[in-house]
Amino acid sequence: MPGNLYLVATPIGNLEDITLRAIHVLQSVDFIAAEDTRHSLKLLNHLNISKPLISYHRHNEEIKSELLINKLLDNKNIALISDAGTPIISDPGEEIVKIALQNNIKVIPIPGACALINALICSGFDTKEFTFLGFLPLNKKNRIGKLEKIKNASSTIILYEAPHKLVSTLEDLSKILDNRKIVLAKELTKIHESFILGTAKELLEKLENPKGEFVIIIEKLNNLENKNQLFLQNMSLEEHYSFYEAQGFTKNEIIKKIAKDRKLNKNEIYQHFINTSPLN
Ligand code: SAM
Repeated sequence: MPGNLYLVATPIGNLEDITLRAIHVLQSVDFIAAEDTRHSLKLLNHLNISKPLISYHRHNEEIKSELLINKLLDNKNIALISDAGTPIISDPGEEIVKIALQNNIKVIPIPGACALINALICSGFDTKEFTFLGFLPLNKKNRIGKLEKIKNASSTIILYEAPHKLVSTLEDLSKILDNRKIVLAKELTKIHESFILGTAKELLEKLENPKGEFVIIIEKLNNLENKNQLFLQNMSLEEHYSFYEAQGFTKNEIIKKIAKDRKLNKNEIYQHFINTSPLN
């Protein structure tokens, strides 16, 4: 019989945020696989737990998965933990879970802290439907794709971000979100825990040199705004022009409004109409 692979959630700041079951599992397993063994040692010392640690991180996931699977097949129980919170959520571990399941090894979750859930429940935004996008990609094309998704999101969006990249992410968000509200959940469960509400532009004014850990929660496009935006975006540019023309707007005002609705540059709209009747 193979051993069990336990996925154990650990605190995201406050060391008291660990369940009794998590402690029992960490005390009873044969090995603990940890993202950063030195970091996890602090928690284990605090809990008075002494176990053989195996380092398991993004850069050795493949090799170490094999080692851990062999131990599991040899009837050893293993707990996987990350530096903070729920393992595998924007943390290593996906690989070993896949292989464990292929080998009929039992994978058992031991629930606990997770930054995204705790940020969401304090945001005041819609929790019935939400989309977690993890960290925004750095690759320009992939990043634009994700930003596009956020712009049209009909559910609350949750992002993780490193403090030194927070400003540039808020700058990108300010270009696509207009007045949509954002909550920054800062330093959850720690002494300086706070929730900062504002539009991306307002938050940029409030934060000069952000320090600490942050979750970004973005309000969904509200229904009316959503419907209007989809209604306008589904029109041809000519129909869009006529829509505003019928409301008595001037050419310049119309171009400005179309550019805003479609998040396009005004010049692109001018270019399109340059040889067509509305602007002649
Ligand atoms: N596995 C973790 C979890 O369950 O939340 C997330 C790990 S991910 C590598 C780290 C990111 O989670 C940080 O950059 C930050 O966005 C968020 N995070 C983790 N702890 C946090 C805290 N105490 N307060 C706010 N955000 C936190």
